[in-house]
Amino acid sequence: MRALERLLVDKGLVDPAALDAVIETYEHRVGPRNGAQVVARAWTEPQYRQWLMQDATAAIASLGYTGRQGEHMIAVENTPQVHNMVVCTLCSCYPWSVLGLPPMWYKSAPYRSRAVSDPRGVLKEFGVEVDAGVEVRVWDSTAELRYLVIPERPAGTDGWSAERLAELVTRDSMIGVARLAVPA
Ligand code: FE
Repeated sequence: MRALERLLVDKGLVDPAALDAVIETYEHRVGPRNGAQVVARAWTEPQYRQWLMQDATAAIASLGYTGRQGEHMIAVENTPQVHNMVVCTLCSCYPWSVLGLPPMWYKSAPYRSRAVSDPRGVLKEFGVEVDAGVEVRVWDSTAELRYLVIPERPAGTDGWSAERLAELVTRDSMIGVARLAVPA
């Protein structure tokens, strides 16, 4: 990767300052808190939730979360009957605009292969037991499409504001490898 970068810079095809700006943005200014705002809003505003399920790209962009790797978004919703999880079997496609940069394990070969061959086993290793009666859906990201999991809203949060709810929402829950709970 470094060799490729140096070659592109040497040939004048890439401006190193532009690369640094992209990395700086996604390392420090864009992260999972964006996705948490989307989830909290979907939980509290039925109309927004409906829009998000129908046209996630536009609904997410309306909150200002646009940019690279977020051009074509699809939201999938966890329910008591369905558990969704996201992978990129080919490489590491990930919705940067709502979740920032992907964690190391998301890019690892074992996760990428086993998420599709043994999703329940992988979920168990993340501490998520999915009952046999619950359908597990695994979404394979592509260069075109990125997925955002809307986790189930934790019990005991009736009447909470979107701001307070957003604080509960974790990165892993939006990849679909964690459930949410209200801290004791
Ligand atoms: Fe990929």
